[in-house]
Amino acid sequence: MMMTITLFKDFQFDAAHYLPNVSAGHKCGRLHGHSFLMRIEITGELDSCTGWVMDFAELKKACNPIISILDHHYLNDIPGLENPTSEILAKWIWRKIKPDVEILSAVVVKETCTAGCIYRGL
Ligand SMILES: [Zn+2]
Repeated sequence: MMMTITLFKDFQFDAAHYLPNVSAGHKCGRLHGHSFLMRIEITGELDSCTGWVMDFAELKKACNPIISILDHHYLNDIPGLENPTSEILAKWIWRKIKPDVEILSAVVVKETCTAGCIYRGL
């Protein structure tokens, strides 16, 4: 019996940024930091033998290098993140992870407990 399942794993990192393109006086135009949440979602068929879609350890191994690039760094200095909004960051993360994790189905980035964005590769 085929069964499609979505799994997710959450990662946390702390980073500083400012948004260069906001209007003068906007608070996001000032240097500040967030404790970001990165949620990696994968969607695939349940393997009838292992009973899982993907080993979480494998997913962690694919994502850890990305966390190393971001954690305790100044995002604006990272190539591709000159304007590091959550939206642009989610797409940047997607492009880094997708080649290694073909069944990647969404990247969620949260800057605060109540605000975030979801990128599904479109
Ligand atoms: Zn911010």
